[in-house]
Amino acid sequence: MAKYLIVGGVAAGMSAAARLRRLDEAAEIIVFERGDYVSYANCGLPYYIGDEIKERERLVVQTPEALRELMGIEVRTANEVLAVLPETKTVKAKDLKTGREYDETYDKLLLAPGGSPVKPPIPGSDHPAIHTLWTIPDTDQIRAMVDDGKVKKALVVGAGFIGLEMAENLKFRGIDVTVVEMAKQAMNVVDFEMASMVHREVAMHGVDLQLDDGVSEFTPGANGGVVAKLTSGKTVEADLVLLSIGVKPNTAFIAESGIELGKRGHILADDSLRTNKEDIFAAGDAIEVMHPLTNKKTTIPLAGPANKQGRIAADNMHGEKPRTYNGTMGTAIAKVFDLTIGMTGASEKLCLAHDIPFDSVIIHPNDFAGYYPGAMKMCLKVLFSPDTGKVLGAQSTGYSGVDKRIDVIATAIKANMTVDDLTEIEHAYAPPYSSAKDPVNMAGFVAQNVLEGLIKTVKWTDIENAELSEYYLLDVRTPAECASGVMPGSVNIPQAELRDRLNEIPRDKKVVLYCRVGLIAYQAIRVLAANGFENIYNLSGGYETWLVAT
Ligand code: FAD
Repeated sequence: MAKYLIVGGVAAGMSAAARLRRLDEAAEIIVFERGDYVSYANCGLPYYIGDEIKERERLVVQTPEALRELMGIEVRTANEVLAVLPETKTVKAKDLKTGREYDETYDKLLLAPGGSPVKPPIPGSDHPAIHTLWTIPDTDQIRAMVDDGKVKKALVVGAGFIGLEMAENLKFRGIDVTVVEMAKQAMNVVDFEMASMVHREVAMHGVDLQLDDGVSEFTPGANGGVVAKLTSGKTVEADLVLLSIGVKPNTAFIAESGIELGKRGHILADDSLRTNKEDIFAAGDAIEVMHPLTNKKTTIPLAGPANKQGRIAADNMHGEKPRTYNGTMGTAIAKVFDLTIGMTGASEKLCLAHDIPFDSVIIHPNDFAGYYPGAMKMCLKVLFSPDTGKVLGAQSTGYSGVDKRIDVIATAIKANMTVDDLTEIEHAYAPPYSSAKDPVNMAGFVAQNVLEGLIKTVKWTDIENAELSEYYLLDVRTPAECASGVMPGSVNIPQAELRDRLNEIPRDKKVVLYCRVGLIAYQAIRVLAANGFENIYNLSGGYETWLVAT
C-alpha cells in the first residue's frame, strides 16, 4: 500500500489528495495543515468581509471530518511540518495543539505549502490595527473590527488584486478607504492605459487612490487607530490598515533538506513537478513556474494554476498516467466595483522586459450588439508578434463580457494561434451576448490591417513623448463629439468633410488621425491613402484611450 504525505491542505494540496484517492483506493493519504481549516475558499475572503458572501460556512468547502468519511483522507489540521529528511524519506511534524513532535515516513511526498503575505519592515507596523488577509482567522479578525462599527477609515497598502478587492468591500461596508501604491499605477501586471480605467473606476466610487507613494512609518493614532506617514510627506489616519503588497513562499521549513530553491525561496520543480530529491513533488504558490511566452521561470501565485498543478503532481506521484505541467501565463481577472479587468499572456511591459518583439491594437467595441438595450463599451488590447502574427497576450476592461474575451484569447495563445485565426473564431452570437463580429474578431481584423500595412498606428505614449511640432494631429470626429473635449493642438476636420478639405492637410508631415475609438479614423486613413497621403497614422484606441491614460 502506497503512503502519500501532503504538506498544505488548501488549493494544490487538497486537489492532489482528492485525485490520489480517485487513482488509488488503497493508498494511505495524510495531509498536514498547520492552520485550523483545509480546503477553504481564500479567493472569497474579501467578499465575506464586504458581506457579499453572508454565511461564513460557505468559505469552508470541506472539513477534515468530511474528507475522512467521504474520501478516506486523513487531514491533520493544526499540524505543522517542521522539516523534510529526504535521506530517510521522513517528515518531522508538530501537533500545534499538544506540542508533540513526531516523525512520519512517506513513499511519495507533495510540498504544497503556498505563500504568506509579505510584511514590510515599516516602523510601527506591529500595531494591532494593522492586518494582512490570507487565512480564515485573518478574515475573522478584520470582519469583527468592521462589524463592531469602529472602523470609519481604512488604509489599504498595495493596489494589486487583493488590495483593490478589499478597497471595494470595505467601501461597501460604509468605510472611507485610501489606497496607497508605490508604483505609478494600480494592478502592475497590466499596462498603464488599462490600469487607468481602474484608477477612474475607484475614483468614481470615492476611493482615494494615492499612486507613486508609500508608507514610511506608522504611529499610534486616535481611538486605537494609526497614522500612516507617506513618503510624499502626506499623512493618512486609519482605524484599520490592510497590508497587501505581495506574497512570499512558505519554504523556510525545507531550508536544510537539500531541496533546490530559487533566488526568492520558491521550490524548483521540473515539468513533471518533481523536485531534485527523489519522490518529492511540489505544486502551487510555493514553486517557480515556466512562463510559456518568455520561456523563463517566474512566480505566478494564482488559484487556477495551483489546483491544476496539484492534480498533475498527483498523477505523477501515482505514476500510471505521467503528465507534464506546461507553464503559467498569468491569466487573471478581478472585479473592481462595477468594472472587470482581465488579462492573459504577455503585456507590453513583459515584452519590453524580455526583448520580445510585439505590436498591439486597442479597440473599444460594444460588449454586445449596440442596438440591444444595455450595451456598453469595453476595451480590448491584443498583443501580437509583428513577424508571425502569433497572439502574445490580451488585456480587457469593461462592464460585462471581459471574462469571455480573455478566456477565448487565452485559449488562442495556448493553441499558438495568430491574429488571422482570431478573425475566424466562430463565436455564439445573438444580440444580448455579442455582435456578429465579436470583439475578439474585431481585434483580429485591426491587427490584420496593421500586419498587412493597411494601417499604421501610434500609441498614446508616442504622442505624449513627442513634440507637437513633430506631427499634425487630425481629429475626424463630428463637432458634437469634439464638444466633450479634444487633444491639445489637434485640428478638426470631420470625416464627412474630409474628401473636400484634403488641401488643408500637410503632405510633408506625419499626420496622426484620431476619432473616439479608432474606427472612423481608420476609414479616414483609407480616404487619405487613396489620395496619395503616405505618412498617416491611426491613434491606437483613439481619444477614449488617450483621455483615460493621460
Ligand atoms: P495555499 O492555498 O496558500 O495553501 C497552502 C497551505 O499550506 C496553507 O493553508 C498553509 O497553512 C499550509 N502550510 C504551509 N506551510 C506548512 C507547513 N510547514 N506545515 C503544514 N502546513 C503548511 N487566486 C486567483 O486565481 N483568483 C482569485 O480571485 C484569488 N483571490 C485571492 C484572494 C485572497 C484574499 C487570497 C489570500 C488569495 C487569492 N488568490 C486568488 C490566490 C490563491 O488563493 C492562491 O494562489 C492559492 O490558494 C494557492 O494555493 P496553494 O495550495 O499553493 O497555497
